[in-house]
Formats: sequence, structure tokens, C-alpha cells
Amino acid sequence: MSLSELSPHYVRAIAPYQPGKPISELAREMGLNEADIVKLASNENPLGIGSRAKQAITDAMAEIALYPDGNGYALKSALAARLDVGLDQIVLGNGSNDVLDLVARAFLAPGTSAVYSRHAFAVYPLATQAAGAIGIEAPAKDFGHDLDAMLARVKSHTRVVWIANPNNPTGTLLDNGALHAALAALSRTEAVVVLDEAYVEYMDPARRAPSLQWLEEFPNLILTRTFSKAYGLAGLRVGYAACRPEVADLLNRVRQPFNVNSLALAAATAALDDAEFLDRTKRLNDDGMAQFTEGFRGLGLEWIPSAGNFVAVRVAPGGDAGPVFQALLRKGVIVRPVANYAMPEYLRVSIGLPEQNARCLAALGEILGAK
Ligand SMILES: *Cc1c(COP(=O)(O)O)cnc(C)c1O
Repeated sequence: MSLSELSPHYVRAIAPYQPGKPISELAREMGLNEADIVKLASNENPLGIGSRAKQAITDAMAEIALYPDGNGYALKSALAARLDVGLDQIVLGNGSNDVLDLVARAFLAPGTSAVYSRHAFAVYPLATQAAGAIGIEAPAKDFGHDLDAMLARVKSHTRVVWIANPNNPTGTLLDNGALHAALAALSRTEAVVVLDEAYVEYMDPARRAPSLQWLEEFPNLILTRTFSKAYGLAGLRVGYAACRPEVADLLNRVRQPFNVNSLALAAATAALDDAEFLDRTKRLNDDGMAQFTEGFRGLGLEWIPSAGNFVAVRVAPGGDAGPVFQALLRKGVIVRPVANYAMPEYLRVSIGLPEQNARCLAALGEILGAK
């Protein structure tokens, strides 16, 4: 018997998550200087970390020999005040991916199922499958979630419905009225609904869903957010869920006692107060998005309108974007292929600094013009 047979069949069947290519790896492979490589592949904040968060990490270093606060009291208090929810409604995670996994562990098991959309964030099928549950994929509408199609696929054994708003890698945003109606219908099922708002800080406040108010209306709703994107703390790993206390209690039962480290707790608490950094981040993203869409228009490329800090561009209509991805790598530009999201014609590009965006557009122009 091989060792792999000792593992449940549903674990063996998991296709590994494909992360963006690290700069150091490309430098090694292509013999390039790391400083000459532009990475627009993982939706990271091109401004780096904010000064307040950085100072908080320096200060927290003094106590690094001690275990972190397993309850994350300071960060949870700051979040509860900011979101106007109870302390017992916040669950912290080692990145919001950890929170997604907690939801899967708390609500899914063999014999249950979870519903997600085609082209939706890859962690939903992964977390579903790791829990031994059946993944039910609903077809998409214009690359976004088709809420009616998702609702139609909810079964009596469905315990989780995953919704990303905006979605990664498509950037698609749901209409608030349609989302509210779907949540109302889903509140009458035996499933919890995860509304993943990893990119909410990039949206104009007027466009955002009133999701925190919906928590009062829909007891089965779980909001998830992260410090990895707009707050610039992807390497520290910290995210959270806001939900009903009963749900938080379940998530905390399957959570490791010290899942968020002390530097991450300190940095996130400080970052939450850094309105200036968040503001600068949003403006840079708005400008960069305009730069890319103008550039794409100039190159005659279609793209999917995005509410996030990235955009999916159709570089190979009717074909395969792989060769364009490879050609970009040879020019020192790392973007993200999304064939694994059933979008083989597209590449996902994260919004960077103006000069990085320009490098990416110029490289695209050379590659596509030369065909
Ligand atoms: C990036 C992302 C996350 C957050 O990941 P972290 O684990 O918090 O770094 C969650 N959901 C979506 C849709 C994302 O794109």
C-alpha cells in the first residue's frame, strides 16, 4: 500500500493552489536582476507597508518571545468599534484564507455540499474539498456570479454558499439589490453564506454593499475581510470574519489557539487607524486602473471591468494566453495566468506603481505587436 492511500480520497484529489511566481524564482530561472523584475501577480499593495504598521511591528518585537494574545483582544476591539459590531462577532484568521478554512471545518463534512460560482476564488473549492464535502459549481454570468443559478443549486445537504464580492480573478461586482434578494432567499436554507469582501477598501463607499447591516438581518451571513490587500500586510497573514456570536463561537472552536502571530496583530491594529495610507492606496489604484484600461484600449484588448486592485485582460481571444504569459516573464514582468479558473484567454494583472504598469503595458505592446 502506498502512503498516499492512507489519506482520504478527497484529500488526494485536491489540486494544489497555484500561487504567483516569486520574484527570486524568476530571477534565478531567467538570469535577471531581481530589481529589474516587476511582479503584478498577487494583488499586493505596491506601496508596501504603511508607516504606522511598520512602527507597530518594531515595537512588538520586544515581546516576540511571548505567545501572542490568543483572543486578539486589541485587534478585535478595534475592529468591533470600527464595524460597530460586538467583540463576540469577530473571528481572526491567519489571513482570511484561514477564516475560509475555519468555515469549511465548522460547517462542512463528508455528506454535505457547498455552492460556488465558476471563475470564483480558488480557495472555495479547495476548502470545500479538504473538508470532504461536495463542491457544486454554478455557471457564471458575464464572468460574475449568477446568483439565481447559485440559488437553484442549493440542496438540502448544502451547508455553505461562497460568494466573492468583488470576485477574484474577474473583478466582477454584484448589484446590491440582487445580492440582498439572494441573501434573503439563502437565509431560508440550511446553509451559511460567506460574503468575501477582500477588496472592499478599494471601492467607493457609495458602491459598497451595506453588508454590516445585513448581518443583523441574516443570521447565517459571514463576512470576511483581510489585511493582505489594501492594508499592505499580505506577508504577515491576518484577516477576519464578522458574523453572529453563535457562528463566531463555532469558528473559534476549530481555530488554533494562536493562529494569528503577535507582529500581525500589532501591525493590523495600527493599520486600521492609518486612514492616510488607505486613502493613498485607493487613489493609486484608481489611477493605475485608468492607466491600464486606457493602455488596453490602445492595444485593442478587451478587459473585464474590475472593482478590485487587479484586472483580467483578454490577451488571446479564441486562444491560449500561456505564450503571452511566458513572453512577459522573459521581459521580467510577472502576471497571473488564469487558465485554472477556466479563463484560458485571459491574464490577471495586479495594479502596481505607475512605472510598473507602464512596463507591463509596454511589454504587452511589444509581444502582441510582434505576433
Ligand atoms: C486575496 C484574497 C483573499 C485574502 O487572502 P488572505 O488569506 O487574507 O491573504 C480572500 N478572498 C479573495 C477573493 C482574495 O482575492
